[in-house]
Amino acid sequence: MKCILVTGAAGFIGSHTTLVLLNAGYKLYLLDNFSNSSPIALSRVAKLSSLSKKEAQERISIIDGDVRDFSLLDNVFSTSKRNGERINSVIHFAGLKAVGESFEKSLDYWDNNVGGTITLLKVMVKNSCRNIVFSSSATVYRPKNEAALIETDPISPINPYGITKATIEKMLADIGGCQSTASAQQNSSKGWRIACLRYFNPAGAHPSGEIGENPKNIPNNLLPLINQVGIGRNKSLTVFGNDWPTPDGTGIRDYVHVMDIAEGHKAALDILLSSKPQLLIMNLGSGKGTSVLKLIHIFEVTNGIKIPYEIGKRREGDSAISLADPSQALKYLQWEAKRSIEDICRDAWNWQYKNPIGYL
Ligand code: NAD
Ligand code: UDP
Repeated sequence: MKCILVTGAAGFIGSHTTLVLLNAGYKLYLLDNFSNSSPIALSRVAKLSSLSKKEAQERISIIDGDVRDFSLLDNVFSTSKRNGERINSVIHFAGLKAVGESFEKSLDYWDNNVGGTITLLKVMVKNSCRNIVFSSSATVYRPKNEAALIETDPISPINPYGITKATIEKMLADIGGCQSTASAQQNSSKGWRIACLRYFNPAGAHPSGEIGENPKNIPNNLLPLINQVGIGRNKSLTVFGNDWPTPDGTGIRDYVHVMDIAEGHKAALDILLSSKPQLLIMNLGSGKGTSVLKLIHIFEVTNGIKIPYEIGKRREGDSAISLADPSQALKYLQWEAKRSIEDICRDAWNWQYKNPIGYL
């Protein structure tokens, strides 16, 4: 049985990916320090899976701990060996992800994201594990504002969060013996199998409404903020500018359903484990752009609720358009986003409506 360590498993994308992996038959070691998540997410994942309670207990080991803790991680690898189910791959979600906060607390971002990955990689090397799928981000690109972003576009992030992601990509390319991070596929001369998945705007929730996005602090992203207005926690949404160079003047993003993203991880892992050592760097996006006003409209029509909004100033550091060219993921991973923007709006609201105060 394939055995995987998932860091940040209780988070938004981690919990949905864990469900997909569990249903696909993997044995999972799930590590999280719960700094931005709840252990309840993992118990709901187990219940949602196709496994019986007993099977789920056998297939999941939960570790409450920090990815920067070398001895703890090393111990997880040793335990897996003792249990005769050696961890052979890692999916690395753990990290801090708020762009705005990364300006205020940039050292925390370097420590958690870059420091955490260095510790993880050291433990992986010690335990001869050289297969990793890493959560990168569209923020590594220099905003382009007119056409879709492709993997060969310049890497030039404009905030500390994006800089940590670009740094980790470079580090992974380096240990893999690869030249650069500006190519979708390169062979690894050092026996590593690495996928850096550059997510665009993950959103939505599992259609059951049992798991979803549950940030501990005030949400930053558009869909959770629309949900907060829908549920009555906020009176209205502030649209950050209607003077962008886009058809309706509001920012355009590439929203991609979190279940599509979760399936993208399984696709990447399957390809890595069945082919030669290589570095894959892939956009995970839908290739379709939606403006803020259009998203509000689709959310209202899909869910039959009104989202009052007002037009505010542009948010510092924003760009007009962020859109993926997802053709390399289709070519190399046979992956493409299947779910629509309506699915995203319906599932996001279903999660919020069923869990008005999150995992409690
Ligand atoms: P999330 O905050 O919901 O999940 C991250 C998880 O990691 C949380 O459960 C948190 O408790 C845990 N964690 C944080 N630091 C840790 C540490 N030092 N040790 C152990 N656990 C730790 O975020 P998410 O949206 O699920 O994102 C997952 C990954 O994807 C992150 O690396 C993020 O940067 C990246 N990403 C997210 C988005 C997005 O819009 N959600 C977009 C691009 C990339
Ligand atoms: N946005 C907005 N109001 C909000 C939050 C976001 O108008 O309260 C806009 C933002 O300017 C961007 C889009 O919604 O055009 C998506 O923002 P989000 O923060 O979710 O993603 P990112 O900008 O990081 O891609």
